[in-house]
Amino acid sequence: MAWSLLVRNGTVVDGSGAAPSVADVALEGDRIAAVGPGLAGSAARTVDARGLMVAPGFIDIHSHSDLVYDACPSAESKVRQGVTTEVVGMCGFSPVPVAPGRAEAVRQWAGGLASHMPAVRETFPQYLEHLRRLGPSVNVVQFVGHGALRLATVGAENRPPTRDEQAAMERLLAEALDAGAFGFSTGLVYAPSAYGSTDELIGLARSMAPRQGLYFSHIRGEAATLEDALKEAIRIGEEGAVPVQISHVKASGRENWGKMDRVLRMIDTARARGLDVTGDVYPYPAGSTKMDNLLPAWMQDGGVPKLLERLADPAARRRAIEDCLVDGERWRTGSGAMGWDEIMIATCSRPELPGMRLADLARRTGKAPAEAMMDLVLEERAGVSMIQFSQSEDNVATVLGYAHSMIGSDSLSLHAGSGPHPGRPHPRSYGTFPRVLGVYCREKRLFPWETAIHKMTGMPAAKLGLKSRGFLRPGLAADLTVFDPATVADAATFADPHRYPTGISYVVVNGQVVVDGPRFNPQAAGRVLTPGS
Ligand SMILES: [Zn+2]
Repeated sequence: MAWSLLVRNGTVVDGSGAAPSVADVALEGDRIAAVGPGLAGSAARTVDARGLMVAPGFIDIHSHSDLVYDACPSAESKVRQGVTTEVVGMCGFSPVPVAPGRAEAVRQWAGGLASHMPAVRETFPQYLEHLRRLGPSVNVVQFVGHGALRLATVGAENRPPTRDEQAAMERLLAEALDAGAFGFSTGLVYAPSAYGSTDELIGLARSMAPRQGLYFSHIRGEAATLEDALKEAIRIGEEGAVPVQISHVKASGRENWGKMDRVLRMIDTARARGLDVTGDVYPYPAGSTKMDNLLPAWMQDGGVPKLLERLADPAARRRAIEDCLVDGERWRTGSGAMGWDEIMIATCSRPELPGMRLADLARRTGKAPAEAMMDLVLEERAGVSMIQFSQSEDNVATVLGYAHSMIGSDSLSLHAGSGPHPGRPHPRSYGTFPRVLGVYCREKRLFPWETAIHKMTGMPAAKLGLKSRGFLRPGLAADLTVFDPATVADAATFADPHRYPTGISYVVVNGQVVVDGPRFNPQAAGRVLTPGS
């Protein structure tokens, strides 16, 4: 018997949550051929994994890499963490569908997320075909963004869809599901997804019934309205009869930190009623998004060109300040009220700005902080992203330890050096999975290894309905992550984010060794996955 790769004597953590045991794992081509102690057989290549852990490849259940695959198909910052599958099309954003003539609007809309998508493909089938040809190094699970559905039908305006437009959104969603999308996502704090009503979303959810799509939601508020927003997401799942994923579960803004226990109990209560509601979390007390999201929804009505017009209008600026400035010093958003020193510029076109807090930008420019922020968004034509330090470390640990949470980076896959994404993006692009393993598993002992790995593998695979990934079992896909439990650690920081983790020894995607000790072999190892595969 000759296998293609034999991983000998590793501590196998199979993804199911079962306790680890020492065993061999044999791969044949793109499949796992055998798992067990002392496998008898020879292989083209044998790796000694004594002292290392051997796990299924990690599934990043919440990623935005579809906005950058064109610039970074190697997905290096993810694969080097052990990620072999990314779930993308999150928070209402996806590169398609694009209505004829609206490519520029879609490009501008995602610009603040540091997107590098050409947005020239119009339909989901065309886009997935493009992605297959592009050949990322990771497997891709693609969702449809509700924002994209709205831009392609209603446009960027803040109004309900007409009956025809609702039907058109449902048609586009069905076309995407038929082509291989897994469901749709909302970003109910982002225009134009935020303009969608609960009924509109229940309609979209119901329309997926024959195709068994999933509903993933960045809910309508993670701060003052957190509990109502969660209630809405659960209701959409219940009345739409679809499974629900609460994206990046968090309570934003100091005044809301105390709500986390109630939030998790609400998910428990929904589950007790038989609903499939789960969540995901990234292991940092800071989030990141586009800076124009600091501005109120009425300013975004009509898309980026309208936003820029309003930013240039002193009366509109005064109104924004009246709406958002609290006590003269904090800025109120869907992410809670934040101080200007809690908001950091992450990426923009001016290399001297990333890393600077808005409080510093105001001091340097001699402007009021709100004016400095609005000037920056205007000058950058909304193409600026930020990091918000708005969460509590205790809550991060609470959600990580919650029985129904999975690990999602909520980030782009990048590569260090003069990559597609200069500046100081959130370190989660480079550190999420090793940080959970190193800090929360090894150091803080929040959970045992098998639980941490289950949250990264078997649990998301089950949620997505993936039949051939997420577990180390014969016959399943040969996606493998081998790491050193004694040294696995994230290295990326907010000050210095473009740093790869340590302790990830081998990453195998569909049988191809992409991380091979110190070497990274970018190759078209990934596949565009389809539901049920
Ligand atoms: Zn989000």
